[in-house]
Amino acid sequence: MRAEGIVMEFEPVIGLEVHAQLLTNSKLFCGCSTRFGAPPNSNTCPVCLGLPGALPALNRKAVTLAVRSALALGCAVNPTSIFARKNYFYPDLPKGYQISQYDRPLGQHGRVEVCSGERTAAGQIVNRRKKIFRITRLHMEEDAGKSLHEGLPDSDRKSYVDLNRSGVPLAEIVSEPDFRSSQEAYDYLTHLRKTLLYLGVCDGNMEEGSLRCDANVSVRPKGSDAFGTKVEIKNLNSFRFVQRALDYEIERQARVLAEGGRIYQETRLWDEVKESTFPMRSKEEAHDYRYFPEPDLLPLKLQPAWIEEMERTLPELPHAREERFVTEYDLSHEDAMLLTSIPAVADYFEECARNSGNPRAAANWAVGDLTYALKASGKEIEESPVSARELGVLIRTIDSGEISGKIAKTVFEEMFRSGEGSAPVIRRLGLVQISDEPALLGVIEKVKAANPRQLADYRSGKDKLFGYFVGQVMKETQGQANPKVLNELLQKALRE
Ligand code: ADP
Ligand code: ZN
Ligand code: MG
Repeated sequence: MRAEGIVMEFEPVIGLEVHAQLLTNSKLFCGCSTRFGAPPNSNTCPVCLGLPGALPALNRKAVTLAVRSALALGCAVNPTSIFARKNYFYPDLPKGYQISQYDRPLGQHGRVEVCSGERTAAGQIVNRRKKIFRITRLHMEEDAGKSLHEGLPDSDRKSYVDLNRSGVPLAEIVSEPDFRSSQEAYDYLTHLRKTLLYLGVCDGNMEEGSLRCDANVSVRPKGSDAFGTKVEIKNLNSFRFVQRALDYEIERQARVLAEGGRIYQETRLWDEVKESTFPMRSKEEAHDYRYFPEPDLLPLKLQPAWIEEMERTLPELPHAREERFVTEYDLSHEDAMLLTSIPAVADYFEECARNSGNPRAAANWAVGDLTYALKASGKEIEESPVSARELGVLIRTIDSGEISGKIAKTVFEEMFRSGEGSAPVIRRLGLVQISDEPALLGVIEKVKAANPRQLADYRSGKDKLFGYFVGQVMKETQGQANPKVLNELLQKALRE
């Protein structure tokens, strides 16, 4: 608890740098494919291999995607932006420089409104609040290649370079140091990823490296206005790791300062096994990139009318959709957030809500049984064997009393397994709910005759035995008795 006490005396300041791979088929400055998982060095040409004399030609689609991202993040898009060379030596950077943007980036001065709050163990958000986080800039740049190492350092170590990634288009999104907790950083990243997915500009896949995040963090005594010395954390492969690495680093820095030490500006790496950060390089060793305007590319000029058109045609963004789900369908914030986390899930829900005429039930199925079944079978929602339309039909069948909610679960499982619609499944399994009074009365009489002792006990005042009789009828009908009708009939029949 001592550490907790120290941390409480300090306030963290966090700024995030996110690299998002733009969803193009070809690279930023050449026609090579961006397909992930191709054999090493197969997606390469003189341009992305950095061969002398090869010239870059800008990918129009990448510019479109970057502009849409910048606009959705509230950035002002510069009518003229400039590509710049960022010079450094690294084995996976054959040109010896990366083409990026520097003092005139594509977009600047953005802001996003993010819902933030602490989570309970059950995933509910407490202390829900909206916060504005500022975005410093969004610029375009090309990715570098990838070094792969085999064996341990200092032994018979082999290194390989795969240049398939070299020249893949990225948008780098740099935030202001506006986050005051690891949770806020996490919530912003989740929001950002959602936004990029909605725009269709990035697939958001962190395992394949299409979305990467570096976290900058410093701490300062509570109440102070000045910023402390920051540390940059790299190697963060998931938002949870970002949060954990920040928590670790905040505590480490607070402890150092509380003990009278000082923080050195450095880059640290997150070790997910040890759950700690360790130094990679100090700022003294850091690069001086010697940026200068890229002489092989003209300044990027965008027509204001075109930028306006891009802005007009932005899709409904996650936040707006979430709010609409709450008001239009009367859903909880948690459900609305879950349902809007992936656009395809939100689309599925809306279609199901329309088809069922019961949005609440549609939401329950979508976040419940459907999500569970998809996870268990490793399927994406686009591959769901139960379509939104068919789930809507199933919900109607429950609402009309044709089948019970309990049987519906069995029907759903069978629909998911076989890919059939609800009607054929209900027919095939003979699961239609029995609401027919004479039929139910027949069963009730049979149950009464088979349980004379319980019947006598019930009649002499043991009311609890009512449930027993319900159970017996359900057993006889394989759970198909309509509970409401059965209840009414049984109340009368047991007294007779
Ligand atoms: P550098 O020159 O080291 O790249 P920048 O000023 O460009 O630093 O900032 C990089 C990132 O670090 C940004 O996201 C910014 O918000 C964040 N940042 C800057 N100063 C601090 C600080 N004192 N504490 C935490 N984050 C910071
Ligand atoms: Zn190429
Ligand atoms: Mg910087």
